[in-house]
Amino acid sequence: MLLSIEALQVCYGHVQAVRHVSLSVTEGEAVALIGANGAGKSTTLRTVAGLMVPKAGQIRWRGQPIHAMEAHRVHRLGISLVPEGRGIFPQMTVLENVLMGAYGRKDKVRVRSELHELLGVLPRLQDRLEQKAGTLSGGEQQMMVIARALMGQPRLLLLDEPSMGLAPVMVQEVFALIERVRVRGVSLLLVEQNARLALRHSQRAYVMEHGVIRQEGRSSDLAADPLLQEAYLGTSLAETAGCESLVSKT
Ligand code: ATP
Repeated sequence: MLLSIEALQVCYGHVQAVRHVSLSVTEGEAVALIGANGAGKSTTLRTVAGLMVPKAGQIRWRGQPIHAMEAHRVHRLGISLVPEGRGIFPQMTVLENVLMGAYGRKDKVRVRSELHELLGVLPRLQDRLEQKAGTLSGGEQQMMVIARALMGQPRLLLLDEPSMGLAPVMVQEVFALIERVRVRGVSLLLVEQNARLALRHSQRAYVMEHGVIRQEGRSSDLAADPLLQEAYLGTSLAETAGCESLVSKT
């Protein structure tokens, strides 16, 4: 098992954002964490990344406990968070932002060749390397922060709302990049408001509500679950699947 979380609890002061979360990600797997606003999904990711200290529970990486580790040590293990809101350095160039992901790496020749390879599949970034990152479109920024994370050679990417605020065409491009990352063997833990998208791009998924995992299973099974469709997937999935009768239209 690459990542396992057992009975996790996380608080902000008196607010308990995560009440009971147990989940796992295996090598090469894409796992989605879906659920409504405020369910505690981002908090779960931030805690795995070492940005928050849990109140209780265990987080293990290849069997070793990591929940007491500081974020930079967690990152060094190969766990990389792509945060909601992206966390770009707007005044720095695109190239400088991407290279921030390789900070601390000594293998500079390898860094150069990986950068070259990565930019080869990201022509939008390739054409904008000297542009200030703050002037990129939302989708371009999202690709840039994923590229930045990849420069750190992660084994697990924690993706927080990668589709947030993006035009549909950019959502497609960002998820094409995510798919490419997965095919290359990097595991993914994907938090998404857009449950349909998340289920389409994952093998397994967990449904979180009020700080608790309510449901888990294969993404294809969850996508076909009528109750889940009603709660999280809106009418569009049912309509495209030709099963309008399953979905309440009221
Ligand atoms: P969203 O999709 O809206 O980001 P989420 O499922 O990711 O939702 P979290 O962001 O983890 O949920 O928030 C879970 C709960 O923790 C919410 O009730 C939220 O108000 C609370 N919370 C989040 N961040 C903080 C903070 N910095 N201080 C206090 N409470 C917070």
